[in-house]
Formats: sequence, C-alpha cells, structure tokens
Amino acid sequence: MVMDKLGVDERIEKLRMQGLRLTPQRRLVLDILESTEEHLDAETVYLRALERDESVSLATVYRTLNVLLDSGVIQQRFLDHDRNRGYYELYDKEHFHFTCRACGRVIEFETELVALVRRQVSRQHGVQVQYTGLHLEGLCAECVENAAAIAHQADTAPTS
Ligand SMILES: [Zn+2]
Ligand SMILES: [Zn+2]
Repeated sequence: MVMDKLGVDERIEKLRMQGLRLTPQRRLVLDILESTEEHLDAETVYLRALERDESVSLATVYRTLNVLLDSGVIQQRFLDHDRNRGYYELYDKEHFHFTCRACGRVIEFETELVALVRRQVSRQHGVQVQYTGLHLEGLCAECVENAAAIAHQADTAPTS
C-alpha cells in the first residue's frame, strides 16, 4: 500500500461517524487488509479469516466487505481489463495500478497528472467528476528482461 496510510483507529473512527459499529467480523476483515501489501479478492480474505476464526462464512465476508466498501473505509479494485474479479485494499491516498500480464505482479503508482486532467475536464466542460478509472497493463521490468533473455538465447542457440 502507498504511503500516508491511515491507522486502524482512524478507520474505526470513520465507521463510527457513519453510525457503524466495529463488529468482530469488520475488525477481522480490516486487520487482514491492514496486515498485507497485497490486493486481496473476497475468497482470499475469506481463507485468511478462516485461519483466525473457523466460524466465518464466505457470505459474511462478502457482506462485511460491502459494508466497509460503502462506508469508504476500503476500496475495490479491478486489476485486469476483464474486470471480472474485484480486489480489496484499505482506502488510502489516490493511487493507480499497473498489472504485469506475464507474472501478475501489481505495481502501485501515484501521479499528479490525473488530478490535472480532472481539473482540466471539469473546467472545460463544467462537469463534476465522480469517478476516475486508470489502469495499466503490460510487462513488468523483470518480465521484459526475461523476454529479452529468451529472445537472445534463441538468437544465439547453435543450429544443428
Ligand atoms: Zn512480470
Ligand atoms: Zn492499490
């Protein structure tokens, strides 16, 4: 997760301000997301929750994720262009994602340029932007290197 991370306490406060109690399930899901740098899909959150509490069901995890999502404490991300699987992470400063198509690595990055585009479009067209989507896909540096190495090997392989 990117810098400027809110603490669990601030998230709990945010829930309270919306009249939501910190149920054990919400605490559990927040703790799981807090304790990882990864973006987790609902099934993975469920499996990790099970390790700590055998009585948790997948339905409970889905319901809990949705409540946390609605309250703005966590965010849902789509990390491939099919957008068929949502991944969850704690809400932090606006950042964007690059997904490697070869190894699946997700790289987070920040840029001021998107805010600039938003301001420009708002000004030019008088619109109020409520959602911004930006997601990049390709090969990570390591996979670019590996692909180059394989191509190089093929070039220099002795022909018999
Ligand atoms: Zn890669
Ligand atoms: Zn992220």
